[in-house]
Amino acid sequence: MSPRKQEPPYPQPRRPDLDTCLVVGVSSSALFDLTESDAYFREHGEDAYRDYQDERLDAPLRQGVAFPFIAGLLRLNDLDAEAAVVEVIVLSKNDASTGLRVMRSIQHYGLPITRAVFTQGQAPYGYIQALGMSLFLSGDPDDVANALAAGFPAGHVLPSTAAYDATDPKLRIAFDFDGVLADDESERTYKTKGLARYQKAEAGRRDQALAPGPLQRFLADLNRIQDLEAARVAHDPSYTPRVRIALVTARNAPAHERAVNSLREWGVRVNDAFFLGGVDKARVLRVFKPHLFFDDQRVHLDEALAEVAGVHIPYGLANAQARPASRPRRGEAGETQ
Ligand SMILES: [Mg+2]
Repeated sequence: MSPRKQEPPYPQPRRPDLDTCLVVGVSSSALFDLTESDAYFREHGEDAYRDYQDERLDAPLRQGVAFPFIAGLLRLNDLDAEAAVVEVIVLSKNDASTGLRVMRSIQHYGLPITRAVFTQGQAPYGYIQALGMSLFLSGDPDDVANALAAGFPAGHVLPSTAAYDATDPKLRIAFDFDGVLADDESERTYKTKGLARYQKAEAGRRDQALAPGPLQRFLADLNRIQDLEAARVAHDPSYTPRVRIALVTARNAPAHERAVNSLREWGVRVNDAFFLGGVDKARVLRVFKPHLFFDDQRVHLDEALAEVAGVHIPYGLANAQARPASRPRRGEAGETQ
């Protein structure tokens, strides 16, 4: 972890308009490393856990997997002097008492996050839509699966050993296409009818946009921030845009055309596009080095997690059979109740 003074400064938080800015919900398990806290909770129970956290109120939690992404996102608030560009809200099923250490840790790192929702043991995803979030990040796979099943945009932040330079002002984000930006219609064809039928169907429907998937709106929100950056460049040619977005998909020609046309039809865009056709995504991800990489298939994430922070979107047919087995495993327990 780098000392605070080396990190670029954050603009002061403003009152956000949740209907116009990018709103991200983050659980304490995604923002901080709760491995120790969680082990204590499981061994000693809720009452002892509260004492444990009270005794450590001023001992900052270690930064978690989503921390570099959240920090980079919040720095973008300097793009608009009047209105908030990004709002990050803690969305946690801790109670407010055990959540005190989380909020103190946020203060310790100087993150301008002041708003929080604590739902004491209840799944918090019902507040995703109410608070205008286009993304909810959590370390709890069940909360994420339930949120997605209810139609809300959510991702499971996976344990990762990836390290990021805290002085890097850039924010890089990589998206898979099918089951993430798009729905799983094509994935269903591939899974149920095989590769040849899939390729034929996709070529035949290349001009037919797919239905948006769970993170399409999040990409649209990021594009609006990129528009602000483009406007800044127009006034200040020395400004270097910070947000960089990549599409990293196993689609290749000719099926790539339907992905390109879907993005166009939805009015969203990416900077880099990788159509890999079965080549390991990790090969390009370690070069692009996204602060978060979103994919609906664990196999693509597992290849990359040593070097890149990954988020599983357990959506669609590819995850239909996996859901009952999605209990937290040791080391990725996430929220503690
Ligand atoms: Mg996919």
